[in-house]
Formats: sequence, C-alpha cells, structure tokens
Amino acid sequence: PQGSTPEAAREQAARTYELDRKHVFHSWSAQAALKPMVVTAAQGCYLWDGDGNRLLDFSSQMVNTNIGHQHPKVVAAIQAQAAQLCTVAPAHATAARSEAARLIAERTPGDLDRIFFTNGGADAVEHAVRMARLHTGRPKVLARYRSYHGGTDTAVNLTGDPRRWPNDHGTAGIVHFFGPFLYRSRFHASDEAQECERALEHLEQTIIFEGPSTIAAIILESVPGTAGIMVPPPGYLAGVRELCDRYGIVFIADEVMCGFGRTGKWFAIENFAGVVPDLISFAKGVNSGYVPLGGVAISPRIAATFDDRAYPGGLTYSGHPLATAAAAATITAMAEERIVENAAQIGATVLGPGLRELAERHPSIGDVRGLGVFWALELVRDRETREPLAPYGGTSQAMIDTVAAAKAAGLLLFVNFNRLHVVPPCTITEAEAKEGLALLDQALTVADGYLE
Ligand code: PMP
Repeated sequence: PQGSTPEAAREQAARTYELDRKHVFHSWSAQAALKPMVVTAAQGCYLWDGDGNRLLDFSSQMVNTNIGHQHPKVVAAIQAQAAQLCTVAPAHATAARSEAARLIAERTPGDLDRIFFTNGGADAVEHAVRMARLHTGRPKVLARYRSYHGGTDTAVNLTGDPRRWPNDHGTAGIVHFFGPFLYRSRFHASDEAQECERALEHLEQTIIFEGPSTIAAIILESVPGTAGIMVPPPGYLAGVRELCDRYGIVFIADEVMCGFGRTGKWFAIENFAGVVPDLISFAKGVNSGYVPLGGVAISPRIAATFDDRAYPGGLTYSGHPLATAAAAATITAMAEERIVENAAQIGATVLGPGLRELAERHPSIGDVRGLGVFWALELVRDRETREPLAPYGGTSQAMIDTVAAAKAAGLLLFVNFNRLHVVPPCTITEAEAKEGLALLDQALTVADGYLE
C-alpha cells in the first residue's frame, strides 16, 4: 500500500477518494450515490483498499486478471518494452506484436491464424462484425438475449442484457434469439438434450424467417459471462456451426471474457470438441488487462477477403507495443507455469464441489453453474418458483447486503442482478480457493436471511 506510514497511506487514500468524487465520471453508474472503493495495491489473488484492508479477489476485477495481479514476468516485460519503444504506428511491424500474434495464433482452435489487434473487447466485436459483413456482403447479425458484447454502439446493441435498453436506438440489422439455458428454459425443456435440440430449432427458424441471404453472422459467447455463465449443453455449439455452414453465415465466438484460460482451456470453445468458429473476439485475459488490449482471430477464408481489397478499418493503437509485450509475456508465463491447467484443476476439484456443497446448505442458492474458474451462483427467494433474489436488470437489498457482507469478511465478488460470480484469477491456489469459499459461506447466511 502507498505511503510511508499507515496514516500517510490513509491520507493519500482520502485525497484519492475526494478527487474521484469531484472529477471522475464513472461507467454504468448514477454518479451522485457512488462510493468507489479506493484500491492502493494488489498482488496475486489479493488487493488492498484505502484503509489497508486485504481482500481476496474473487472478481479478477472485470474478470480479466487471469494471471493474477502484478505477475513479475509481465510487469518486467512492460518495463523493458517501455524502456525500448513505447509507441509506433500500426502500419509498422514490431517484435512485440509479431510475437503476441504468433503466441495467440498457435493457441486458437482450428486454422484461425491471423490476428487483428484492438484496444479492448467492444472494438474487437465491432471489427469482427465488420469483417463478417464485408466477407458475406450481408447486413444482419444474430445475437443472443442474455449476452454482453461491449459498450460501443454496435456492440451494445448486439448485447442482449438490459445494458442495451437505454442505449438501444434500434440499430438496423441486429436480431436477438434465445440461447440454451435449462434452469430458466424458454423452450419448456426438461433436460439438456431437449434444451439443446429446441434452442437449435429456434435458431434455425429465426434464420429462415429473417432470410438467410440477409444474415452476415451469428455472434455468441462460447460460454456467456456477465449474462450468467450458462455453459451450453453438449452439441449446441456444434449445431450452431452446422447452421452457419448450411446458410453461409459467419460464426463469431466472443471469447472476451471466457478466453485465455478462464474455463480451464485456452479458449472456451475447446470445451466443445471440434467446433471451430470463423472469427474469435478476445481481450481481457490475453494480457490480464495490464495494458488495454483486444483483438480478432481470423480464419484464412475470411482473411483472404482482404488479400486484394483493403480492409476498411483500423485504430491508432492497433498492436500497441506495451499491450502486445504484456500479451506475449502473459501467454508465455501462463504456458510455463501451467496456469490454464491450474484453472481446470481448481474448478474440478475445489470450486465446483465446494460451491455445490454450499448449495446444499444455503437455500438462497437456486443454481450453480460453471467450469474452470468461471462460476455463477444464481440466488433465489424460493427454490420451487425460482423467483430471483433481485429482478432481471436490477438489484435488491438482499443482494446489496450479501455482497457487502462478503466484502466486510474480506472477499470481493463479481455481481450481476441476482447472481454472485466466482471468478478468481486462474493462478488461484487450493488454499486461497478454500479461504474464499469459507468467506462466501458466511456471506450467504445474509442472503438466506431474506428468505421466508
Ligand atoms: N464481450 C464480452 C463477452 C465481454 O464480457 C466484454 C466485457 N465484459 C466485452 C465484450 C467488452 O469488452 P471491453 O469492456 O473491453 O470493451
């Protein structure tokens, strides 16, 4: 933590808070009531607030610090790159960008081997959609309800969750469909196989009624993240691939949140054997957010569209040296230290069993879903009716108090509506995961208290 003495650190934190409230305009928030936590330092799976309290970070911030906070190899790579070359025009080739592109291309599924770099996830989605439209010459994009694709204009309109609503000006060419989600099935299904079959039938009907010759792309998160970590049933993504092939549609897998180790694989779609999308949008975990970076992995077939015809898009900071140096170091360290394997192992042996055990004792837990270090607890008022503990798109005193109890106990969670997301860094140890589960156990008694 900053400051030479605890008093000096607290004084500095108070000034940070005061200036924030005076001058900083925050995302996705009503400004007046905001009380942002001052964060002064972080290390591994922990961070420290302005009062010097240590918190176990089960949020990975925005589900992006997959390698944990302040990994020394990544910090050193950024420092070395800064000392050598901080910025360069995207038209030039740099060692950092070439290496990062190679390391990503070597890990993408199938033959996706060309990488276009962006500044983050939303612009990765924007460019993936633009590539699909130019490749097919078609205008429309199909996207899931219960999805999040970013905060820029097209990305927020592709988004299916309520963050779209205040931003939706009816962008032409975007059509939403229901994906598989057995716990709240839109298809009256009673098992995964039925949910899968009916969700695919619904998607095909959507394609047919919209007009296949008008549809450029289907975009979906391989495992939807902020919308609730609904792991698709076996066969669903293979079915989407088949529909895309049948109707000449580009398959965009948005792996901004679920990529780079989060699900215990480099890319989440690898959990569904053999499914290869045409484009993958990525960001966050690619360099754990140490420097803003995102991108699109492109199949040779789509890349070839732009062999003799210019790709009409770009960004000043495409392949920024500091960001791509951080990516190369992150991917290298994750491989050397077997961090992706660790995420799979902790998910299978500690988090999955531990969260299911909590569900046996806490009646407020309606559903437990996830894999790797990517889990959601869906909190309900009543297990029979499945009435959520907060309304869709909103919050409730029960959720606010539960999250506050977790924080007071030293645990930081990622929260959305009636869900607690358990999404720690992929580097988390067994002991840290167990510590977090024990703190979560305490906090859930607060949620239980709201049940009649
Ligand atoms: N797609 C998905 C699946 C995401 O989870 C996010 C961010 N949460 C985005 C896109 C947007 O990324 P960014 O905030 O970096 O623009």
